[in-house]
Parts: sequence; C-alpha cells; structure tokens
Amino acid sequence: MALHDKFGRQITDLRISVTDRCNFRCVYCRSADPENYRAKDEILSWPELYRLAGIFKTLGVRKMRVTGGEPLVRPGVEEFISHLRDLGVEDISMTTNGHLLSERCARLVSAGLQRINISLDSLDAAKFERITRTKLFASVMNGIDVVQASALAPAKINAVLVRGINDNEVQDFAVFARERDVVMRFIEFMPLDADHHWNRSLVVPAAEVHRRIHARWPLEEIPHHYSETARKYRFADGAPGEIGLIAPVTQPFCGHCSRIRLTADGKIRTCLFSKEDHDLRSLLREGAGDEDLVTYITSVVMEKEEGHRINEKDFHPPNRSMVFIGG
Ligand code: SF4
Repeated sequence: MALHDKFGRQITDLRISVTDRCNFRCVYCRSADPENYRAKDEILSWPELYRLAGIFKTLGVRKMRVTGGEPLVRPGVEEFISHLRDLGVEDISMTTNGHLLSERCARLVSAGLQRINISLDSLDAAKFERITRTKLFASVMNGIDVVQASALAPAKINAVLVRGINDNEVQDFAVFARERDVVMRFIEFMPLDADHHWNRSLVVPAAEVHRRIHARWPLEEIPHHYSETARKYRFADGAPGEIGLIAPVTQPFCGHCSRIRLTADGKIRTCLFSKEDHDLRSLLREGAGDEDLVTYITSVVMEKEEGHRINEKDFHPPNRSMVFIGG
C-alpha cells in the first residue's frame, strides 16, 4: 500500500513527536511564559505509538523521524527506536537539542538510530544562552563530540538564523563544519514561534547564506533527492564538512513534499502549517481496528495542503507553535 495526496505526491516520511515537553525555551519556538503542556493522558502512550508506527509502515512510510518538544526527555525513547528498527523502517532519525546526547548516544546507536540532527543556533555560549534560555551550551557541544565519535557521524547541525540575533555567525558556522567535519544546516526562520514575533525582515534568505560562505570558501552543489528539504554543498577546496540550506520561506519545496506529522497528542498534521489537526487518538481510544485507522489516514492524506502559503496575502500562522508540532 502507499499513501498519496490529491496532487500525486507520495507520503513516505513521517515525523513522530513523542512529547510536547522540552527543557529549552528557544526564542524562535517557545514563549518566555510557561506553556500549557498537554495532560499526560492526552499524550499517546508508547503502545499507541508502537501500533501507529506499524500501521504507517504498512502504508509505505519508509522514513521515520523522532522529534518532540525534546524527544530525549521522555523515558522509553530508545525502546521505541528499537521497535521501529524491528518493524523494518528503512530510515530512522531524530531531531534533538543535544543536551542529553553525551550519556545517551551509545544506547541510541544500539537501539538502531541511523541519523541525528542537533539544534545549535550559536557558537557563542552567552548568545546560545540568550537564544535557548538555558545554560547548557557545554553539554550540547559535548554531545556533538560524542556523536562525531559514534556510528551516527557526521552529525547534522541545525541552526535557525534570525536576522539581528545569529546571522553574524554564518562564517563561524562554516568554519565549525570544516573543522569538525559536520553537516552544517542553515534553516530559514519560519512563522511558527509561540509569540508570533516572526516577520519577513527577520528571515536570512538561504541565497544570502550561500553567497556569504561561497565568497570565502567556494561551494559545489551535491546532487540530492528531490524530496529532501536541504540543498547540500561541499567545499570546493576539499575541506571536510558540508553545508545544507533549508529555505522554506524564500524557496519553498512543497511541490515535492513527502512528509506528514504525528503530534504527541495524537493528531495528524498533513503540513507543518496546517490550519487543522486530524484526531487519530480518539479513533484509537474508541477501539478502532487497523482497517478503520488505515481508511482514516488515507482519507486525511488525500486532502494534504498543496503548500504552506507563507508568501500568500491570506497567510496566517498555525494555531500550534513548533514545540507542539515537532521538527
Ligand atoms: S510547508 Fe508543508 S507542504 Fe511545504 S514542505 Fe513543509 S510540510 Fe510540506
């Protein structure tokens, strides 16, 4: 079986948020004020997540990314990854803020994790603390070192660039990639922040990032699969490391979108910017059989949005911020 939408796009990539909790409070994601976390019983249990992962696998989903909030704050995530491996999921990855990686990396690798993305929005400890509202810079950097010495290397480092906050570090991040042999990915700031401070002037276009790095270290494009979100580059001088540019605002890639999301409270979001959620949890808890769930998921995916409409006049940010959707 395969999942398609009405535009003919096949859905092969599922992002699974296993928690809405996070110990970071990044300014481009969360509010300074405490959010209303979902009550524990609103969050999908591990048996429910195991079952849904199995059903999505039968529907042709090949890639599963474990996200949050911060996935490593929920006990049992390694066992869930082992379950995905045992299901035969081809590509198992995780997005994390990295602060627990030094002590968890080995267990994640033996559980079957294949790829990891670590958020790091500044190489300056003081600025990192201002962006994340934590004092965990050193533990994140340690986590990156541990990953680089593991089977998960090369680490993918995600930096969300916000004009006036960390856009002056573009070349420093490029040096970081060259010196540490990591994949340095620059993500355009998206209108998903809880405080709705996003506006276009805060976006650092991917083309500008490319220009600024290329001027100092010429870049060569690496061929990529059309459904991948990042445009990838190597350094023409042969230096280690890679540069990835993710440009959802200035160069939308919705036409080839192969992704849907499952939120921690059991809703399907067919697009990061969906205006509505589709309630899978209630169906599950009302005793729906696998066939009913398959029918529901298939019908929901058929109505997947064409794109995010960020550049349209009638665009309104979704009613969920990033921490309640997952990366
Ligand atoms: S914005 Fe929506 S449609 Fe576009 S790539 Fe992201 S998830 Fe897909």
